[in-house]
Amino acid sequence: MTEKSPKLRAALDGIPTYKPGKPAATGGPLAFKLSSNENPYPPLAGVLETVADAAASLNRYPDLACTALIAELAERFEVPLEHLATGTGSVGMAQQLVQSTAGPGDEVIYAWRSFEAYPIITQIAGATSVQVPLTDDEVHDLDAMADAITDRTRLIFVCNPNNPTSTVVRRAELERFLDRVPSDVLVVLDEAYVEFIRDERVPNGVDLYRDRPNVCVLRTFSKAYGLAGLRVGFAIAHEPVAAALRKTAVPFGVSQLAQDAAVASLRSEDALRERVDALVTERGRVWEALAAQGWTIPDCRANFVWLRLGERTLDFAAVCEAAGVVVRPFAGEGVRVTIGEREANEIFLRTAEAFRKEL
Ligand SMILES: *Cc1c(COP(=O)(O)O)cnc(C)c1O
Repeated sequence: MTEKSPKLRAALDGIPTYKPGKPAATGGPLAFKLSSNENPYPPLAGVLETVADAAASLNRYPDLACTALIAELAERFEVPLEHLATGTGSVGMAQQLVQSTAGPGDEVIYAWRSFEAYPIITQIAGATSVQVPLTDDEVHDLDAMADAITDRTRLIFVCNPNNPTSTVVRRAELERFLDRVPSDVLVVLDEAYVEFIRDERVPNGVDLYRDRPNVCVLRTFSKAYGLAGLRVGFAIAHEPVAAALRKTAVPFGVSQLAQDAAVASLRSEDALRERVDALVTERGRVWEALAAQGWTIPDCRANFVWLRLGERTLDFAAVCEAAGVVVRPFAGEGVRVTIGEREANEIFLRTAEAFRKEL
């Protein structure tokens, strides 16, 4: 008798697996990981102690409602408690939003190339991805995205700044776009890197959401706050979107360690700003150095730079790795390189310079 395997939903066939940034090699003399947009700094002062305290209660379930964190966020952003939801990283929340809005026959629009989780979570829901190419300047083509809306569109992701190109859309163009989106289509502003923006013309999603009930802002503690390992993010949206996020959350998904660390991090605003400022300064230095080497690179607004290397992408990633820095290649397209420790950035710059001379 031949055993049949369990019946799995056909929607799962062919889903690309999420590729985590390659870890830095161990054992070599030098190995830096610039492949996952992580913060090179350790957690903020006091956060480790807070986590250690919370660890004493690991036999207990966490606070299901994330009460203290939600209260802290409500005060910080001046939004009602009911407009907040927390989740296991903003990727988890993006998945909940797709699950809440779209199923078979429905469409999810996003720019491409953009965050690689979008196609995966769309396919898991059984919905259809509508990928709208970036402009030649590597920016979201918001006019084309609005043109792509049909009566099957349920959700649109706008990744601002965009991963992996580090480019932004500005206030006027984003508002014009939002004005064109029907009120029954959810727009998710994925602002994972918002703290790194130094451009007055880029809007803060929290300002845009206030009078737009179809806008949901996603934020995370993984990048600027340096808590990627704890898995905690949050969303700001009107009812009933925020309520949908609470309904679809994995019960007790956000650990007490993560909740307490997030609250402590929010209270260390000055230290946070200092670190983010240092990374932004370093980003400027890296960008200038690359430009001086002759590379054409878009202005970067997040904690990474994007080199469109086309067919040379994998070669470049390999020479970087040999030199001691692991970067994130997108075969045939380009390489995303996180701004990391100064020593790591220096290795990357030296490698880029040598590679450029051979082009
Ligand atoms: C890193 C990232 C996230 C956040 O991930 P977490 O799940 O919060 O760690 C979300 N969106 C984009 C575009 C990202 O690059």
